[in-house]
Amino acid sequence: MQGTGIRLPAGKEEMIPQSLTRDVVLWWLRENDETKLETLWQEADRTRKEYVGDAVHLRGLIEMSSFCRRDCHYCGIRGSRQIDRYRLSEAEVEECVRLGVRLGYGTVVLQAGEDPGLSRERITRHIRFIKSETPLAATLSLGERSDAELAEWREAGADRYLLRYETSDMALFRRIHPDCGTEVSDRIEFLRRLKRLGYEAGSGVMVGIPGQSFETLADDILLFRELDLDMVGVGPYLAHPDTPLGRAAAPLSLPPREQVPATDVMTTKTIALTRLVCPDVNIPSTTALATVNTENGRELGLERGANVWMPNLTPTRYRALYEIYPDKACAGDTAEECQACLLRRIASLGRVPGTGPGGRVRTADSRSNAR
Ligand code: SAH
Repeated sequence: MQGTGIRLPAGKEEMIPQSLTRDVVLWWLRENDETKLETLWQEADRTRKEYVGDAVHLRGLIEMSSFCRRDCHYCGIRGSRQIDRYRLSEAEVEECVRLGVRLGYGTVVLQAGEDPGLSRERITRHIRFIKSETPLAATLSLGERSDAELAEWREAGADRYLLRYETSDMALFRRIHPDCGTEVSDRIEFLRRLKRLGYEAGSGVMVGIPGQSFETLADDILLFRELDLDMVGVGPYLAHPDTPLGRAAAPLSLPPREQVPATDVMTTKTIALTRLVCPDVNIPSTTALATVNTENGRELGLERGANVWMPNLTPTRYRALYEIYPDKACAGDTAEECQACLLRRIASLGRVPGTGPGGRVRTADSRSNAR
């Protein structure tokens, strides 16, 4: 691995070779020996501390709308489901942004289903509001929007955009993510476009999608580096019973191969390996991880490579309607309760809440890797 200078205790040198090749990533993904995994956790934590420090950056998540024109087979707000939907008013979004400022968060993330009802102009107004009235960084996560929209929003001051590629296995992606009409979905190209426009680009995958193999997950992790991503979010796949993928009794009709489990350990292995492969990126300890392990999922993520927490700012009355998967952690808690809880838990790990926008601070290694 380029210049991450992995140092291991004497006798443990064989655990993490100097260069994380695909074989080594794969080997770690398959490793289940807790003693050996302890070395991976320690290396990831040490690398996190060396490259991004002890700050846990706080990004307030505003789930703006549950309307969606897509029909992703894994997602509970897929367009064809007959469910109650909501779209926050502009005033409600601004109220959430102000709350984010009051709670001391450095960024707000405007997230939604892929909702044509959220017009280009409206999002531009939100970005202008955030950039002129608050010190916050503005992140968008609105699905696969047009080039013209991305360019205008960047021009208006948007700092970052999040779009997971979900899996780097294109055959699997096509099975779980139908195109919209004749538009062919190309999330990898979308991420490259974001970078060209000057956004900080975030992506990620779900761990344990039915049909996902260990080889695919290793490729997912190496692609994070190849794309020179600024942020990488991963969480376990959580079956939603009212979706085609959640209903499927057996994995999709793929060639028989070993299924990646959608567990907290598998997710934190992915986080740890991502930290080692992309040492200076921002990595959240996700709500999906906290859902699969309600007791200490968040902590495990932060102790195994993550440095970001994304507390929810959405008014609680709408939360249940943004049900991308069931039993979402913290869904019933108010934004103030979330803030108190996360501050306590961050302190208990000996870490500190981040201040300021908390964008990626590139190291010399990643500068020379950037294309
Ligand atoms: N519509 C936007 C943002 C909302 S979904 C988009 O598609 O980018 C945000 C993320 O939630 C998705 O990228 C996906 O990785 C995750 N997600 C969706 N359904 C999920 C499920 N059933 N289990 C776990 N994560 C899920």
